[in-house]
Amino acid sequence: MKDASPATAPKTFYLKDYTPFGYDAESVHLTFRLAPETTRVISRIRFTPKPDAADRTFFLHGEELKLISAKIDCQAVTPELVEGGLKCEVPGAPFTWEAEVEINPADNTALEGLYMSNHMYCTQCEAEGFRKITYYPDRPDVMSTFTVRIEGDEPVMLSNGNPMGQGEGWAEWHDPWPKPAYLFALVAGDLVNHPGSFTTKSGKEVELNIWVRPGDEHKCAFGMEALKKSMKWDEDVYGLEYDLDLFNIVAVDDFNMGAMENKGLNIFNSSCVLASPETSTDANFERIEAIIAHEYFHNWTGNRITCRDWFQLCLKEGLTVFRDAQFTADMRSEPVKRIEDVIALRARQFPEDNGPLAHPPRPEQFQEINNFYTATVYEKGAEVIGMLKRLVGDENYYKALKLYFERHDGQACTIEDWLKVFEDATGRGLSQFKLWYSQAGTPRLKVSEDYADGTYTLTFEQSTPPTPGQPDKAPRVIPVAVGLLSPNGDEVRGTEVLELTEARQSFTYQGLASKPVPSILREFSAPVILERESTNAERAFLLAHDTDPFNRWEAGNALAKEVRVAMVLDGAAPDAAYLDALEKLVRDDAQDPAFRALVLTPPSQSDIAQTLFDRGHTPDPQKIYDAAETFTQTLAQQLETSLPRLYAATTVDGPYAPDAEGAGKRALNGRILSLLTRLDGGEQAARQYQAADNMTQQYAALGALLKAENGEAQSQAFFGQWQDDRLVMDKWFALQIACAAPEKTAATAAALTRHPLFSMKNPNRFRAVFGALAGHHAGFHHASGEGYQLLADNLIALDKLNPQTTARMCAAFQTWKRYDAGRQSLIRAQLTRIAGTDGLSRDTTEMVTRILDA
Ligand code: ZN
Repeated sequence: MKDASPATAPKTFYLKDYTPFGYDAESVHLTFRLAPETTRVISRIRFTPKPDAADRTFFLHGEELKLISAKIDCQAVTPELVEGGLKCEVPGAPFTWEAEVEINPADNTALEGLYMSNHMYCTQCEAEGFRKITYYPDRPDVMSTFTVRIEGDEPVMLSNGNPMGQGEGWAEWHDPWPKPAYLFALVAGDLVNHPGSFTTKSGKEVELNIWVRPGDEHKCAFGMEALKKSMKWDEDVYGLEYDLDLFNIVAVDDFNMGAMENKGLNIFNSSCVLASPETSTDANFERIEAIIAHEYFHNWTGNRITCRDWFQLCLKEGLTVFRDAQFTADMRSEPVKRIEDVIALRARQFPEDNGPLAHPPRPEQFQEINNFYTATVYEKGAEVIGMLKRLVGDENYYKALKLYFERHDGQACTIEDWLKVFEDATGRGLSQFKLWYSQAGTPRLKVSEDYADGTYTLTFEQSTPPTPGQPDKAPRVIPVAVGLLSPNGDEVRGTEVLELTEARQSFTYQGLASKPVPSILREFSAPVILERESTNAERAFLLAHDTDPFNRWEAGNALAKEVRVAMVLDGAAPDAAYLDALEKLVRDDAQDPAFRALVLTPPSQSDIAQTLFDRGHTPDPQKIYDAAETFTQTLAQQLETSLPRLYAATTVDGPYAPDAEGAGKRALNGRILSLLTRLDGGEQAARQYQAADNMTQQYAALGALLKAENGEAQSQAFFGQWQDDRLVMDKWFALQIACAAPEKTAATAAALTRHPLFSMKNPNRFRAVFGALAGHHAGFHHASGEGYQLLADNLIALDKLNPQTTARMCAAFQTWKRYDAGRQSLIRAQLTRIAGTDGLSRDTTEMVTRILDA
């Protein structure tokens, strides 16, 4: 019989309710007796009551734990087991708490707490996973030093900090730096290490290791170099040095996220650290370098200075994303990185900010914090820091950061602390700027211009549409970087940052001989949507002449969007002037290949849908798809005579190296190949597939062939070659779906879920299939509704195993209100079905409820 009692409504947590814990945890000692189904965890924690505590309730979080025994100062006690943890009577003076619990790592498919992945023990504690390991005040403002003893027969047994000793069947670790429980980590298994070392600027020798399963040793070298570059860069740019004798990275196959910054023991999704030329694409290499940097940079922005509570998540994530973006810009190409980030922001954050899941970078409430590891917290959080840096200037920025590290080292902080540092370092008030942290939604910036007698005026109007719980918004501080070009293409005013603070505001320029062409929002100086009447001729002019590379790309992108919108709405033919401009640019060998590749990358079809919706139309995904196809076909024909030469000219000779220059060339080469394939049916792609000695070219060729529906043989060959490599197989699963025609997308995905190598338990594989399905705009939104149903079926099934990954993938439905009544009702039916599932997790319940409430 099923339990008939109604599910208890999930509890909502509020920022305004913050109260400190009544006790300090001075030191934590943990003993793990490892066994797959019956691991024992013995904790010994020294607690001291805080003299000034308002609340002395002794509540320890705990979930899915079997309590074996509890003691206070060596005396057995019987705590009261309550929802989500336990309560206990405790002395009014310092005391030692001891508890023994039993947990079941083998049964843990949620991948939170201690779990097993390919026979290896591994932990994931952020945000609230430590409570599945033992009873503890599992909140980031409780920081303590950890000593860990691991008992088991695994050849390698690791935890945070420095090794204290090891012997037959045991190992001991001590982390001298006080940390919150979410940074705890333990790994045990049959692992091999790729070693390295780094000498810090003060001359300290640090031992580095990347730990992998036997067989993956050859995929570690690139990650190790990335780690060393990150360590050096953080010293050079921020003056920050590493603070332990050892830095370990471990690769695991089953992981909900990209990677985790546990102190001294980073744990990585294997897809975010393992790389080799034969199995990884240029994009993989770039991403791996960035994620290694990101997790390493957390050592200071996240670990040494952590968050007071989870509402402050963007304090560490926004800043760390900002830092890793600076790093990538320095290692590779600054404009290319900026363009890539803006593409990603528009693809992931804008839909969130303009739909039912909109929330501020610092949310004020949540039911399940795991649902707030979002593009808004991460990427918009980083944009906010970019704006701050632009407003105060570079010198002030680094001055403020220095003060931040001096003032707050070892503390658990808030956004208020962060902004206060900037106010104190620069003397500038930031109360209006703070709105960026509390207001959701993407501001719209309307621009109009006026020119008379040498005076040029730009007038800006800002407004932000309502978002859930926030009907009205106040004007924000918006830094708008502007330059002016004369009609002959010369820059007549270099970049200047205009600071908007009001709803409507004008800026004038004097002494201009003729009406200039403005280049507005250079470098994408603020995460806003610019609404400006412009002509395609002016956009083409900026694409050719703007001195700001970002805005040059942006002009091309805006032009590409306008052309597609006209094709969709009026059935217009692809704009001839635009095709000419593209042709000219593509053939201009003086231009950076990476830049040319980016200009050739079409705006996403979801982006076109949003643009149409914003302009009062109902987007038809099939029409948008057809317009994209027609456009590409026409471009291929226009370029027909130059394609073979371009293909040859962009082919990189010599051995493969994953550097930015080669990657840029190969990106352009890949775009040329996809155009060429439209004309030759796949002859060149088949040759490239045959000859490829690296995954970038093999994958590009396979993609072009699958898109031409002429890649069956190569797809089988690919499978035969790579079936034992999990990461390459993820690509194989995803690519077949991504390249399918819209009417076949859902069926292709469905067939792949029946493939013997499909697994519900491996998040990478699940995401490969369903991320590709949801990412195929016309396929997912095919009028049949098959895509919706297939995703819903699988989310319902996955929720029982892995609520976190299920909840995150519900976001595929977040844009549903853009579409026609038919699609809306199909989606509503699936969301309602998910919401009505018996025993649905708190994670997924929160997500579908928010999406349905739109
Ligand atoms: Zn992070």
